[in-house]
Amino acid sequence: MRKIAKFGGSSVANAEQIKKVCNIILNDNDIRAVVVSAPGKRFDSDIKVTDLLIELCKEYRNDDERYKKTINTILDRYDEIISDLNIDKSLLDTYRNILEKNLTEIEDHFYMENAIKSCGEDFNARLIAEYIKSLDIKCRYLSPKEAGIIVEHTLNKPIILEETYDNLNKFKNEDVLFIVPGFYAYSPQGKILTFKRGGSDLTGSILARGLDCDIYENYTDMNYIYAANPKLIDKPRPITNITYREMRELSYNGFEIFQEDAVTPLLSKSIKIQVKNTNDPNNGGTIIETKRNNVDENPIIGISNVGDFLAFNITEYLMNQETGYIKKLLDIFEYQHIPVEHIPTGIDSLSILIRKKYITSEFQMQNIINTIKSNFNYDHFDITDNISAIAIVGEGLKNIMVETLYKISKVFYEEKIKLESIIHGASNNSIFVFVNKKDEENAINALYNELFK
Ligand code: ASP
Repeated sequence: MRKIAKFGGSSVANAEQIKKVCNIILNDNDIRAVVVSAPGKRFDSDIKVTDLLIELCKEYRNDDERYKKTINTILDRYDEIISDLNIDKSLLDTYRNILEKNLTEIEDHFYMENAIKSCGEDFNARLIAEYIKSLDIKCRYLSPKEAGIIVEHTLNKPIILEETYDNLNKFKNEDVLFIVPGFYAYSPQGKILTFKRGGSDLTGSILARGLDCDIYENYTDMNYIYAANPKLIDKPRPITNITYREMRELSYNGFEIFQEDAVTPLLSKSIKIQVKNTNDPNNGGTIIETKRNNVDENPIIGISNVGDFLAFNITEYLMNQETGYIKKLLDIFEYQHIPVEHIPTGIDSLSILIRKKYITSEFQMQNIINTIKSNFNYDHFDITDNISAIAIVGEGLKNIMVETLYKISKVFYEEKIKLESIIHGASNNSIFVFVNKKDEENAINALYNELFK
């Protein structure tokens, strides 16, 4: 059995947590490589190192002298860990040099910011490797550069170049435990590129595939992935098995436990992911795999809130007889680099649903409105703000569609919640309901009680 273990920010936030991580690694000879995040929050009001690094870039770019203080705050986090683990303090000088070099020598802001953001995981990997070595374990820090993790940068997501897997495969039979910083890779031109937030998960997936692993253990601070967000629902049902497709629908829909991009490298190889808790490694665990055997008992696997949406609603008499109507409308959003996620349609009406976060300025919004106004002879056009989408997901949904739609209607009727829209996903394994933001919590609670209890 070959495994990759990835530890998230809360698992490597301080020396005490890092010691737990080492215990896990040392008790499992199947683990070939370990991917680590940057130190996360130690307590609720704490700041993640990645957020401090982002702050540092902003201050430096704005000639705000407070950046010097931020460097010290960042280094203090590592100083504390290094002191508590009793390892060589000279690492701190290396860290300071790397930060200062990145700030002063990389002229392009985009690349400077990417390089600075990568330091959170890079510094943590270096010190964890040192600590493990101090325990007389054969181990080494492996940078994404040496490992050959190469990505092409696109606006929304990194494209992992195939050669990455060939490069990694060369390390497959080395008899040493690799400690790899997560969250970043290199461009073909040798520049550091960080992934989306939570992107250490993606590094874990890339390594699991490149090193031919059977299991990717993803350690966080929860025993399971749950059927609903535990922040919203009291003691939601734990999930023992979930498919990639379901996970994709749920993580895309606001489940924060596993980053959405990270599923892709694993899909074609059927590598299983096991989500585990660093603080309780011998209990629980959710397995994510291609097919699950308990679809009949648990046809619906989870419910989650998607986030905030905007709807552009257009009505035009005889719309259905016009060719290319939707395309013309979609072009406007494409031009603005805004992904369109849902398009509910009627004969003479349609709505374009996009995530609110993609509208980055009032100017951009006005631009879209003006383009629609000048290009369409509509009868009516308006925008609905404050829409929340809730996804109900499960491989077995297709077998209980009518029953589920009945239950959803019952909840909305009894709770007197206005249903803005409902979409039955084309893949038959999801239903999306759209409500006003103010009804979101109530709707999730009531739906959870109806569908899961
Ligand atoms: N440190 C990065 C973040 O806070 C990446 C990660 O933890 O996976 O998003």
